[in-house]
Amino acid sequence: LKFFKAPVKAKPPVRLPVLGRTVMRISRATFEFGSIEFEDGTLAEGTCIRCPDAPCVTMADEDAVPSLRYEIPAYPSTAVCVFDAIDIDPTSGTPAITADRCVGCGLCVARCPANAIRMLPSGGVEVNTKEDLALVATDWERSSERFDIFRNALRDSSHSVVTPTMFSASFIEARVEHALAELRMLPGTRAGATQLVRNLLTQLGLEARAGVPGDTNSRVDVAFECGANVGLCEVEFAEDLLSAVRRLLADVAIAVNRYGIPKAQIYPLVVVGMLPNKRSDVYELLRDVRDEVYLPIHVVPLGALFLFTWGGTGAGPLRDMPADFQLHGGKKDVIDDVLKHLDINRASLLSQCFAAIK
Ligand code: SF4
Ligand code: SF4
Repeated sequence: LKFFKAPVKAKPPVRLPVLGRTVMRISRATFEFGSIEFEDGTLAEGTCIRCPDAPCVTMADEDAVPSLRYEIPAYPSTAVCVFDAIDIDPTSGTPAITADRCVGCGLCVARCPANAIRMLPSGGVEVNTKEDLALVATDWERSSERFDIFRNALRDSSHSVVTPTMFSASFIEARVEHALAELRMLPGTRAGATQLVRNLLTQLGLEARAGVPGDTNSRVDVAFECGANVGLCEVEFAEDLLSAVRRLLADVAIAVNRYGIPKAQIYPLVVVGMLPNKRSDVYELLRDVRDEVYLPIHVVPLGALFLFTWGGTGAGPLRDMPADFQLHGGKKDVIDDVLKHLDINRASLLSQCFAAIK
């Protein structure tokens, strides 16, 4: 499968015409605000520049409903935070976080061009509302072309995310449990779950659409693609993986028969809250589906998608994950299998994830 975008290459430095300075790179360490390095060696802290379109809160329409070959009726929400935990304060223009609703998924953090939002070890996030960078932007009038140049310079600079082995098993587990608990409290639990997964896949660089929950015509929860290939994803947070596999088989049949997508181009994915116990019968079913129907279903826990988002890995780990890694069932075998296929950094993320999720 080649449908995942290539890793983002280091971009050339971007000159800020008004400042007369060139942004060299922006880096962010786990739990820290960004650090912006200029060509002359000076550093600035990532502070909120009060974006008029607030990408930490709202996605662009074309990102929320990208044009796909598998044109499922889309759930069109552009909200970045399905937990409704972030909104722009109309007075200050900076995001305000509702701490008890924030599960620490890291989506708003990853979308901020200035790295002005950081994760907290306690699980939430914090916004750097100091005016340092905003004052620069103010001179240029927000929403003007010059502001765009400034923001794009930040966004397009070479970003690096330093993720040392900081994410403990309990940290990941707590984020997943909080997310599942908050989703259960939403009026539209299923819609929220599919939208969360859609947002996470989009953040990994995939063109992804969330289906309309309850629409039996479209069926699939999330469809995504890149190039000629199509990903079909079922979201299963009620721990009924068996049912998710059945639904996914129906999705594949519809994609092949109605949309004419060759089966070989389909990447079947189930995102679960927790991996089933290794003795679960579902592993045998997955093996049968792989061997008899030639469909290698990937089962990925929500915690893994969180980790990829926090680590800024892009979709590489999903691509590199061996399709049958889950069939071995045992936690140690899973990790060993994954280690063989991933580089140290990604493997480290994954092993932490699997260490956290039984
Ligand atoms: S937190 Fe970041 S994305 Fe959000 S408004 Fe501020 S600078 Fe823009
Ligand atoms: S980290 Fe996730 S849950 Fe928290 S405010 Fe940001 S998007 Fe919402």
